[in-house]
Amino acid sequence: MHEFMIHEGFINLAYLIASVLFIFGLKGLTHPRTAVRGNSLGASGMLLAAVATMLKVGLDYRLIIGGMVVGGLIGAVVALKVRMTGMPQMVALFNGFGGIASALVAGATLLPRLGQYGTGAQDIQELVSVSAAALIGMVTFTGSIVAWGKLEEFKLIPSKAVSLPGQKAVNAIVFLATVAAGAWVVIDPTQALPLWVLAGLAGLMGVLLTIPIGGADMPVVIALLNSYSGLAAAATGFVINNNVLIIAGSLVGASGIILTTIMCKAMNRSLTNVLFGVLGPTADTATADEVYAGKVKSTSPEEVAMLFDGARRVVIVPGYGMAVAQAQHAVREVALQAEKLGAEVEFAIHPVAGRMPGHMNVLLAEADVPYEQLKEMDEINPTMDQVDICLVIGANDVVNPLARTDPKSPIAGMPIIDADKARTVVVVKRSLSPGFAGIPNPLFALDNALMLFGDGKKMMQELVAALKEQQ
Ligand code: NDP
Repeated sequence: MHEFMIHEGFINLAYLIASVLFIFGLKGLTHPRTAVRGNSLGASGMLLAAVATMLKVGLDYRLIIGGMVVGGLIGAVVALKVRMTGMPQMVALFNGFGGIASALVAGATLLPRLGQYGTGAQDIQELVSVSAAALIGMVTFTGSIVAWGKLEEFKLIPSKAVSLPGQKAVNAIVFLATVAAGAWVVIDPTQALPLWVLAGLAGLMGVLLTIPIGGADMPVVIALLNSYSGLAAAATGFVINNNVLIIAGSLVGASGIILTTIMCKAMNRSLTNVLFGVLGPTADTATADEVYAGKVKSTSPEEVAMLFDGARRVVIVPGYGMAVAQAQHAVREVALQAEKLGAEVEFAIHPVAGRMPGHMNVLLAEADVPYEQLKEMDEINPTMDQVDICLVIGANDVVNPLARTDPKSPIAGMPIIDADKARTVVVVKRSLSPGFAGIPNPLFALDNALMLFGDGKKMMQELVAALKEQQ
């Protein structure tokens, strides 16, 4: 008994230290300079929490170690193989797996105890937690799988917003039925049926909540599902009475909600509008032919290099295509060459450029672009009309002026980087294909716009060579 007490005290102390490490880790993640340290702090906290949990008495180590080996191997292979552009899909899957893990723990807790629950406070707490963990966990799981399919642009799951007739009414009915099933689990803990019904309905709700969201709104959904996975974990913490899981889950839940709010603000949308206000391209949206016909001018790296001669201010706007082309190092080289020619170079970072929050910052940091050169949208936009050359590399939706001008567009209201206001805009991409939102971009047809068609990395390398010739 005495030994167990020491054990318990040690474990709680370890949990406390782990929780403090999580909090300092999160703080570190708020700035690129401290992010790596923050990540290590958080990871050490998790290691400590895991080791402390393993030291608890009565655990079946064979199962745990077996699970760690199998899970660790799969995780390592997937992490090593994932393309940089596939990161958001992987995050979506992680969220989903977190959700299903919580739901499974809920099931594993409830099913062996069926018929043994009393009406005491502790039993009621366990039942409520089981119900919450199963509900949120299943919503997170199926919602994340749909989000993953949308980002992966699977044929089975359309990446655009899907609106079905009577969708809001169906959603409301499924929501009420899910809550009722959740209550049923608590009221009747003698049979397994309520849990299966709850899992099924919650899974359906995850699909219904995610399927109508598409296009430019996907980043918000990813952040929100991340928050749900945290809430599911926190509920599971109550199920198995594990303090560190409650704390870690709450931290993930809260930070996910904060990120969701930031993303919503960046897109000038309210969360309710993102979740329930289905906006799809309407019949009135102009077709690519109408927007581009006869108005698009293409250019060459040599011509662009000549423009740099005498340019005083250059702003580079990176987007998803820079990640696809892995052009970040070549882009950095362009910036260096432009500086040698006497230009002041800045990078304009849109909060949802790429396919995950912070995507561009990560890539540019990898290429050693100084952090001071990265400017946020709000900071750079007021001065865009004083920019000589705006070099847009692989960005499309985040510089699409339709967001300002067409209230029917799927990106209506999303603040954009005002690339069109620069004296000359050079857009580097392979074709006139649309971006994630699937709509044409009138920027490409403007008088001050030039298209440099080709793979981002190749074009940047050719531009570097042409700029070097000029010195
Ligand atoms: P977009 O998806 O709008 O456009 C990317 C462009 O890159 C395409 O038009 C494509 O044109 C071009 N491209 C692709 N491959 C290459 C290549 N090898 N070389 C050069 N160009 C290439 O990207 P943005 O970054 O402008 O916008 C991000 C979009 O993704 C927004 O709609 C945002 O809401 C959404 N999103 C963002 C998330 C986030 O968290 N940041 C998450 C999920 C979605 P082409 O094929 O002609 O080359």
